[in-house]
Amino acid sequence: MDYNKYFYGEYGGQFVAETLIPVLDELEESFFKYKDNTDFNEELDYLLKNYAGRPTPVYFARRLSEKYKVKIYLKREDLLHTGAHKINNTLGQALLAKYMGKRRIIAETGAGQHGVATATVCALLGIDCTVYMGSLDAERQKINVERMKMLGAKVKVVDFGSKTLKDAVSAALKDWVTNVDTTHYLIGSAVGPYPFPEIVAHFQSVIGKEAREYFIDEIGKLPDVVVACVGGGSNAIGIFRGFINDEQVRLIGVEAGGLSDKIGEHASSLNFGKKGVFQGCLSKVLQTENGQIATVHSVSAGLDYPGVGPEHAYLCDTGRAEYYPIKDKDAVDGFFELTRLEGILPALESSHAIGFVIKHSKDFLGKTVLINLSGRGDKDLHIIEDYVRGL
Ligand SMILES: *Cc1c(COP(=O)(O)O)cnc(C)c1O
Repeated sequence: MDYNKYFYGEYGGQFVAETLIPVLDELEESFFKYKDNTDFNEELDYLLKNYAGRPTPVYFARRLSEKYKVKIYLKREDLLHTGAHKINNTLGQALLAKYMGKRRIIAETGAGQHGVATATVCALLGIDCTVYMGSLDAERQKINVERMKMLGAKVKVVDFGSKTLKDAVSAALKDWVTNVDTTHYLIGSAVGPYPFPEIVAHFQSVIGKEAREYFIDEIGKLPDVVVACVGGGSNAIGIFRGFINDEQVRLIGVEAGGLSDKIGEHASSLNFGKKGVFQGCLSKVLQTENGQIATVHSVSAGLDYPGVGPEHAYLCDTGRAEYYPIKDKDAVDGFFELTRLEGILPALESSHAIGFVIKHSKDFLGKTVLINLSGRGDKDLHIIEDYVRGL
């Protein structure tokens, strides 16, 4: 792999104000110091196991497999505390912040899921927490705003620009520049300036590590295909990292295809994006003709993001991983198939990965396919209800 210190191939880097470079350097140094430190890892492993619920099972979806003639296994990240893989990263980074002597954590959130996961670990570790959120998002995700407040976080509603995630990012970066001595910026996906994509991939790679061990120990061979949904790309890179050196394993990322291939009606940055800088790194970004960040759409709030992690842009260009869009309606089909055949309600994000495999099942006949079930669907029930009624 062509990874130097700051870049994945040509993607990544640190496209930030000069004032932030020293704090990124400090973060990088601390991350490489603690990631192999015994005390740090004992504390993190304890929390992952006894607080979050790791290791998560790998489940053979028998009825789904019989119907589609594909051997489908699910990595059950939906069973974790707070209902998704996000807790792996928030626990890791919050603990890192504590070891670095930071007393305050800030984060930004679109759908609110990352904000809730951050507020949760800050309550756990007794760290002061501020979450930035666009006012439109805060309106749409009222319950998550309430949750964060109950957990003791301050929610700062951002009322400028498009009043969504990208404006919350700007506000969080501004806060960080002003308060670098006391504050860690806890980024929620494998995005942002280096070393964030590396930190998030590291803390999520536990997913792929456990899954690979399971296949070697219990099945006696590796899966043929590994599939995960891609928003910013953290659950996907987390499971991919377990198999990236196994050239025979196909890696497939599924993006939000939304309503159509028209800009503004999807969130498929790897399929339709162009090289650009967003949230401090060079990657593939959905943009308008004049280079502004495009508006995006997905039925799934967690995939509604105009950028993608730089490592995915690299894996896409080199062909080591493949990326395909799946439309809202196919994701909703995936949701109902898993719900009715297995009694598991998947998150709408994860439903994109399920929807992809069942829609293209003819391409995978007889193959062993491992799907990362990144989260549970309880949070999405009202959206699915509305969607079904609207049809
Ligand atoms: C946030 C979220 C995602 C998308 O984020 P990635 O960083 O791409 O993993 C996917 N699934 C669930 C359940 C989420 O909450």
